[in-house]
Amino acid sequence: MKNTRKPCRWYPVCPMKRFYEEGKIDRRWVEDYCWVDNPDCIRKQMEARGEYHPDNMLPDGTIGKSLD
Ligand code: SF4
Repeated sequence: MKNTRKPCRWYPVCPMKRFYEEGKIDRRWVEDYCWVDNPDCIRKQMEARGEYHPDNMLPDGTIGKSLD
């Protein structure tokens, strides 16, 4: 995906940033969601609705194994 858009506003505080920087998640997660402000991100959608979502929930809504 070509990165022509601004990053997600939550990226500086999102656990996905830390997991990526610590090498715990694949680059494709931040590339496909965070860096292009992908509206399909489930974390973002739940945040917008004020719904609880655990830190280890990936942008597609699946729970990442051994993420802390
Ligand atoms: S995981 Fe979702 S909410 Fe978090 S920075 Fe990426 S796009 Fe934004």
